[in-house]
Amino acid sequence: MENSNLLAIAAQFGSPVYVYDSAKIVSQYKRLTDAFKNVKQVKINYAVKALSNLAILKLMNSLGAGLDTVSIQEVQLGILAGVDPKNIIYTPNGVSLAEIEEVSKMGVQINIDNLSILEQFGTKHPKVPVCIRVNPHVMAGGNSKISVGHIDSKFGISIHQIPHIIRIVENTGMNINGIHMHTGSDILDIDVFLYASEILFETAKNFKNLDFIDFGSGFKVPYKEGDIETNIEEFGEKLTKRFNTFCKNYGKELILGFEPGKFLVSEAGYFLAKVNVVKQTTSTVFAGIDSGLNHLIRPMFYNSYHDIINVSNPTGRERFYSVVGYICETDTFATNRRINEINEDDILAFKNAGAYCFSMASNYNSRYRPAEVLWHANEAHLIRKAETLEDITKNQIDVGIFSKKTILT
Ligand SMILES: *Cc1c(COP(=O)(O)O)cnc(C)c1O
Repeated sequence: MENSNLLAIAAQFGSPVYVYDSAKIVSQYKRLTDAFKNVKQVKINYAVKALSNLAILKLMNSLGAGLDTVSIQEVQLGILAGVDPKNIIYTPNGVSLAEIEEVSKMGVQINIDNLSILEQFGTKHPKVPVCIRVNPHVMAGGNSKISVGHIDSKFGISIHQIPHIIRIVENTGMNINGIHMHTGSDILDIDVFLYASEILFETAKNFKNLDFIDFGSGFKVPYKEGDIETNIEEFGEKLTKRFNTFCKNYGKELILGFEPGKFLVSEAGYFLAKVNVVKQTTSTVFAGIDSGLNHLIRPMFYNSYHDIINVSNPTGRERFYSVVGYICETDTFATNRRINEINEDDILAFKNAGAYCFSMASNYNSRYRPAEVLWHANEAHLIRKAETLEDITKNQIDVGIFSKKTILT
């Protein structure tokens, strides 16, 4: 997006504000489907937790994507956005049988990731088709919080427990229609993907009524100039060959599924914040912005790198800054970062702010969550208003006990 458009959006809607470029989401979706154009049936289920605004879900639906959901509320949001429940897969972890049954009743594809629930669900609802999330025990992912496929992970059913899965399936007579894995986010090496895929194919051979194999997600996107990313095109070529061979041997054209979040929306997002104060200490120049870990927690939570550009002064002399928030604890977005000279009231743009940014925002320090804007066909559309004091107080209950000045004795 052009600096001038970002500045105009900050001026019109105020700061801080999230902006999403629809064209980037569309081009990423096309890139992924193009990479698998030689597979007969490909299904992309967008991972709602990355960015769950209804406008984004509607955009995904219009592209032909389904949704990958991890809570009943995400399922409900998808249905509100007009997505057919048949195009939603539900992949929860540590969720109650009751919630899984409720989602199943809505016509959503269920994906089960533990033996206990598999046995209970299969016993009660043997006719409902179920997908199984296996854990291939592959160490992958950019950091320990998002590496979810290794041996001690809480996700998925171990591939060493396949005999137990088969026993449950035979005893209950349940119908397994899909096999799934999701090994983590930020995977760089396509060989890791391909290795895990082989394990998935081996697993799939045990089930005779499959409709799909879901390879999860975890594609890495570039976070800075010159950054490496998953080579989707090469990956597509290699996995296509393997998948088509598998289908031939299996005797049926299966659907090849993916459920990317970050890949589809990360680069489409910009977070705009205003510089409240430039503060020089003995060692550092701080740029303090009108936001903090309450709005964008990835740098503090995951040590994530977000490019920061001074859209108000893009040709200014470069200097080193620490960009920090206004929260009353250390909330550092960047240290020793070269940025074009920053003055108070400048607008800074954080890149890669589409995935896991607004969706992880909170009201910490009783601050409002910011507005969201969709940039579509050269026009800015407000898709979420900034919160107000009412949003902070609306669920609180005044019990009237302390309405008079009380003297404690
Ligand atoms: C979070 C999640 C995804 C999306 O991961 P990205 O790294 O954003 O692509 C996909 N599938 C499942 C089951 C997830 O929990």
